[in-house]
Amino acid sequence: MAEAPGEAPAAEGRPSKNGPYGRIFGLGEAVAKPRHIPERTCVGCGQKRPKRELVRVVGTPQGSLLLDTTGKNPGRGAYFCRQSTCWKKGTEKGTLFRRLNVDANPADLDNLYSEFQAIAAAPSREN
Ligand SMILES: [Zn+2]
Repeated sequence: MAEAPGEAPAAEGRPSKNGPYGRIFGLGEAVAKPRHIPERTCVGCGQKRPKRELVRVVGTPQGSLLLDTTGKNPGRGAYFCRQSTCWKKGTEKGTLFRRLNVDANPADLDNLYSEFQAIAAAPSREN
């Protein structure tokens, strides 16, 4: 008998022979590292923020505006910080309309603003 039974399988399963730490940490890092966080620029203040902290507005093909709470609506989007000041700044003088290339009714903007405020007031979700 040259080998003791049970020894070989155990050695194979453990990366203890060549650089165990390098290997383990290398892998762990690749997995644990946060993925690239997409950033968008707020139309109001021009600051870049993580996309999920912003409220997205999309211009629909029908020419109206929509608050996109899911982030999944198709169409051109514009982003706002959750602050009334950013909203005001980004929507005054038709900036938002130009940005989204829609010809919406200013009344839409008022409705949207109410929705926006509701969202802005809500605690931001973590996912
Ligand atoms: Zn802003």
